[in-house]
Amino acid sequence: MTEYTEEQESIRRVAREFARKEVAPGAEERDRTGQFDYKLYRRCGELGFIGMLMPKEYGGSEADLLSWWPQQKALWMDSVVKPALRGEATTCMGLTEPDAGSDNSRIRTRAVLDGDHWVINGQKTFITGAGLEICRGVLAVCLSDRERRQYEQIFIPTGTPGYRIGPPLRKMGLHASDTRELFFDDVRVPAYHRLGTEGQGLAGMLHALGMGRIQIASTCLGLAEECLDLATAYAKQRVAFGKPIARFQYVQGMLTEMALNVHLSRLIRDDSARLFMAGKPFFKEASMCKWFVTEAAKKVADDAVQIFGGMGFMDECPVSRYYRDIRAATIGEGTTQIQRHVIAREMGLLG
Ligand SMILES: Cc1cc2nc3c(=O)[nH]c(=O)nc-3n(C[C@H](O)[C@H](O)[C@H](O)COP(=O)(O)OP(=O)(O)OC[C@H]3O[C@@H](n4cnc5c(N)ncnc54)[C@H](O)[C@@H]3O)c2cc1C
Repeated sequence: MTEYTEEQESIRRVAREFARKEVAPGAEERDRTGQFDYKLYRRCGELGFIGMLMPKEYGGSEADLLSWWPQQKALWMDSVVKPALRGEATTCMGLTEPDAGSDNSRIRTRAVLDGDHWVINGQKTFITGAGLEICRGVLAVCLSDRERRQYEQIFIPTGTPGYRIGPPLRKMGLHASDTRELFFDDVRVPAYHRLGTEGQGLAGMLHALGMGRIQIASTCLGLAEECLDLATAYAKQRVAFGKPIARFQYVQGMLTEMALNVHLSRLIRDDSARLFMAGKPFFKEASMCKWFVTEAAKKVADDAVQIFGGMGFMDECPVSRYYRDIRAATIGEGTTQIQRHVIAREMGLLG
C-alpha cells in the first residue's frame, strides 16, 4: 500500500465519510429515477472537492497545483468559475461528434470568425452535464481552419441563440448523470470566448484529458474497492452446501483476483497522479493507468455480481449498479484501445 501525506489522508477520510453518509444512501433512488442531485453536488463544492486543483484566490482548495485555468477564464470568474467551485454551477466539455469520437480529426463543428464574433455551426454528442439547470455553457472544440487543421476551444453560454440542447439520452448506467446531444445553428459568441492558444484547441483539450484519465481511474478504483468489500462480506456469510461460500476455492479465486486488481490499481493510479502533481511528463502513465484501472474495475464488478449470485443481478443490489456504471469507464475519456494507441505513440512505435 502506498503512503499518503497527512493532508491527503485527511482528504481521504472526509471523502470516505461523505460517500458513506451522504452519497450512498440515495444512490439507488437516483439510479432508479435518473435524477441529478443538485444538493449533493453543492455539498461537494462546500467540502472543496470540486475546486481541489484550483488556486485559493478563485475559491479552490489548492491541494497540490497552483495554476490551472488560462487567464481568459478571469472573464467568467464571478459568473462561472467561482459558482462552479461552490457546486452551484457547472460547465460541460464538447469534443465528441456523431462521426468523430476516437478520431478527433473528423470534427466538423465549424467556427468562423466574422468581425469580432465567432459563428459556430455543428453538432456534439454524448455530452455530460449539458442539460443540467446549473450548466452555464459548453466548451466546444471547433474546426477553424480545415487546410491547416486548426481547432479552437470556444465557450458557448447556455441560452445563446442557436445553441440547442437535445433531450436526455437513455443509458445503460450512470442514470443520475445527464448526457445530451448539442446543436449549433449560426451561434454567435464574441471572439474573446476562445480559450487557450489560437489553433491549438484540440491539442489543449487532449492535454486536459490526460488528467481526466487519472480522475476516471480514481472513480473506478473506489467502485472496485467497494465491490471487493461487499463481495468479501457476502461470501463470508452466505452459506451453501453447509459452509460459507468464501470457503470454496473457486470463490476464493475470484476474491483474491479482485484484491490483486484493487491493489495494483491503487499503485498505478498513485504513480501517475504523483507524476502529474510533480509537473513531470505523465501522458504515457496516465493512459496506462486509465487502461489498467478501468478494465480491472470492470472485471472486479463482474466477479462481484457473480459472487452475489441471483441477488447480484437485482437492481436493489449495489454491485449490479456498479457493474453498469463502470461499463462506461472503458469508453469515455478515450477507449481502452485508444489508450494503447497513446502508449504506442509515446513509446515511439508509430513511426
Ligand atoms: C457516459 C459517457 C459520457 C461521455 N461524456 C462525454 C463528454 O462529456 N464530452 C465528450 O466530448 N464526449 C463524451 N463522451 C464520448 C466519449 O468520449 C466517446 O464515446 C469515446 O471517445 C469513443 O468515441 P465513439 O463513441 O465515437 O467510438 P468510436 O471512436 O467510433 O470507437 C468505436 C470502437 O472502435 C475502436 N477504435 C476506434 N479507433 C481505433 C483505433 N485507432 N485503434 C483501435 N480501435 C479503435 C474503439 O476503441 C471502440 O471500441 C462520453 C461517452 C460516454 C459513454
